[in-house]
Amino acid sequence: MTGRPHHWRTGLTGLDMAAIGRWVVERGEPPYRATQIREAVWKGLARESDAMSSLPVGLRRAIDDSLLVDTIVSTDIRIADEGTTEKALHRLSDDALIESVLMHYPARGAARERHTLCISSQVGCAVGCPFCATGELGFGRDLEVAEMCDQVRDAERRLRATGKRLTNVVFMGMGEPLLNIDRVLASIDALTDPDRFGLGARRITVSTSGVVPAMRRLTAEGARFTLAVSLHAARDALRDVLVPLNRRWPVAEVMAAARDHARATGRRISYEVTLISGINDTPADAAAMAALLKGDLAHVNLIPMNPVAHTPWQASTMTAVERFARPLRAAGLTVSIRRNRGVEAGAACGQLAAERAADPPPAAVARRRELLVLSSAAALRGDRSSEPAPGGVGERQ
Ligand code: SAH
Ligand code: SF4
Repeated sequence: MTGRPHHWRTGLTGLDMAAIGRWVVERGEPPYRATQIREAVWKGLARESDAMSSLPVGLRRAIDDSLLVDTIVSTDIRIADEGTTEKALHRLSDDALIESVLMHYPARGAARERHTLCISSQVGCAVGCPFCATGELGFGRDLEVAEMCDQVRDAERRLRATGKRLTNVVFMGMGEPLLNIDRVLASIDALTDPDRFGLGARRITVSTSGVVPAMRRLTAEGARFTLAVSLHAARDALRDVLVPLNRRWPVAEVMAAARDHARATGRRISYEVTLISGINDTPADAAAMAALLKGDLAHVNLIPMNPVAHTPWQASTMTAVERFARPLRAAGLTVSIRRNRGVEAGAACGQLAAERAADPPPAAVARRRELLVLSSAAALRGDRSSEPAPGGVGERQ
């Protein structure tokens, strides 16, 4: 499926204690070696076997023969917003590029300072939201458990150098986490296990464009992390354009799954709304969203679109964002307005990787813009797009 090189090795942080234990015993080593290995990668944040100084050299070589101590081969960092945003572009062992973004928030009032890492769950994304740089890249492959964990270890290493610790992890980087749900859940197990990363489940947020069967699975399994739903529009005709997955699971189905999850867990759902000037920020759209969410256990995050290449669209003005918030607040919902972080560092989801990808031919770009103008104009009139959902999406659930 993925065209990986034949020498592909599993990342060590993708193994739980039972798997490390089996690996150790198979090599005739005493079981306590498993604990030493776990401590070296999760507490010592080792990048290579030679940093695992508690292990004999023979065992270090055995690790190198079958496992990767770190799945991230190299990382480029770009700093933005006066040092409060660190955008990382990671190269993986098959040369795939993914991004993570570390954001520092100072203490405010009773709230303590936070260091939040936004991580990727896939290389590219199959959903293809037209305002998203990752969507434009298309789908590459699912990330392995260790490739998600190693983004976290990379940020923690940088924080540790200044005496700080990561406080929150959000799955809002490249990819649709609920289309890679088994591995995402295994990575959350590792991040929340007190013997591995030890982060509280409530400090983790998973954002989805609305993969309904996977949302229902989270509810059934009693997931304790925060669920964020990328809503963007309350009307199907417009959401069909902004989130193509809506043609498969429309607003009513996404909302039913989100409400059941909120009821079952007693936890508030976050709804993300990326606001695009003149497209989904109109008073009619705000009223429709207020009517949809009224009475729900919900928090709404309004985010002016980060401008990405190859769309005909612009971010909503702050005036339009404030105007959009008003009917939502009047409906009793809590609303926050997120100033875009890292715009100057190209920090919209997938932007750095998109910059490195070959530029599409100008004719293809022109055609794409034209299609978006036409489809959004049709959506604003209320026609439901008759195009099918993107190929393959959702079929694996
Ligand atoms: N695929 C998941 C999670 C990754 S995207 C999802 O869509 O929810 C994380 C968030 O970034 C989503 O809410 C998405 O809509 C938003 N986003 C993507 N591109 C953006 C852009 N150019 N400007 C602002 N927000 C964007
Ligand atoms: Fe994929 Fe999320 Fe980007 Fe949509 S917004 S293309 S679901 S990463």
